[in-house]
Amino acid sequence: MSCTCCGEKLNSGMIHKKDPATGQKYKSCPHCTEANGSVHVYHPYPANYGQTPARVTARNPHGNQSYCIDCRSLKKGVQSNAYTRGTLCNSLV
Ligand SMILES: [Zn+2]
Ligand SMILES: [Zn+2]
Repeated sequence: MSCTCCGEKLNSGMIHKKDPATGQKYKSCPHCTEANGSVHVYHPYPANYGQTPARVTARNPHGNQSYCIDCRSLKKGVQSNAYTRGTLCNSLV
């Protein structure tokens, strides 16, 4: 499945955008996006993600979290409830 807005894969958590009005950075949350089902759902980055040394790899040198803070607190298999507060792909650049 691809985003109907930008065409990137919906399960990608590595997409970074920003709000053209405020300059605030955003990152896609794959779990929130899955709950939406058609376009990427973004949250402010890094505030709504955080970083952890446990995730530092060659591809992820800063240890960025993939899921937003709300999704990481969910039990496995529970659908995101934070996606309704997210920002959709088409309102960011
Ligand atoms: Zn998108
Ligand atoms: Zn999320």
